Amino acid sequence: MEQEALILRSVRYAEHDRVVTFFSAQEGLLTGFARGSAGLGNRFGASFEPLTLSHVLGRHHVEGTLFRLHKASIINAFSSLKSDLDRFYWAGFAVRVLLALLPPAHPEPSLFSLSIRYLNDLSSPECSPAGAWIRFASRALGILGYGIHSGACSSCHQQDRTGPIIYQVSDGRILCPFCSQGEEKQSWVKTDAEILFLLERVGEVDNQGDGEIPGERLGPVAGFLDQVFSCRVPGWKEISSLPLPIR
Ligand SMILES: [Zn+2]
Repeated sequence: MEQEALILRSVRYAEHDRVVTFFSAQEGLLTGFARGSAGLGNRFGASFEPLTLSHVLGRHHVEGTLFRLHKASIINAFSSLKSDLDRFYWAGFAVRVLLALLPPAHPEPSLFSLSIRYLNDLSSPECSPAGAWIRFASRALGILGYGIHSGACSSCHQQDRTGPIIYQVSDGRILCPFCSQGEEKQSWVKTDAEILFLLERVGEVDNQGDGEIPGERLGPVAGFLDQVFSCRVPGWKEISSLPLPIR
């Protein structure tokens, strides 16, 4: 069956072959073996380059064995994105999220569309890369069942829309500073309630508006997401650790 695939990772195997991990619109996260795809002038061209949207054709020859890729052609190489190092970094964060959090061989069509939209947004020079990242990340977390919600302290039920709060990444609980005393500190993120409100609004998948984050809040919101992904994605490299302007 021919399917649309976003190439996430492509590793050379032996002299002429590649092992390709891709996000298929129809089948979710798959890893396939592409014989003869690594040499110069091979028939697959650049269709297995990471961050490329391609049509791929392949199948499992025997149940339980590696997927074999037979044919591939590029739909969108996102060339303008790949020629801008900053935007390329931003795109790479999505690749790491997808590789770490997508369950294998499980269709996630809305997350697939969201990922393609993110790469298209990043390709547009007018688009704020940090804003696009926050939109992608908050919606992707929601689709995967880790949505970020704002609300009252889960212990005393007091709600302060602007004050400091503790967000527990493992279960999404919110605690006020008073109730957080003496609690288990694993997967704690200290933040403020306004950041959760902003993320909740932007993270609504049905939100047809752009759900823009005000420019001066991009840094703090991206920083909060960094801490969430540090708990969820092994080896997450924080955006703030990269020489990347947040704009
Ligand atoms: Zn409380």
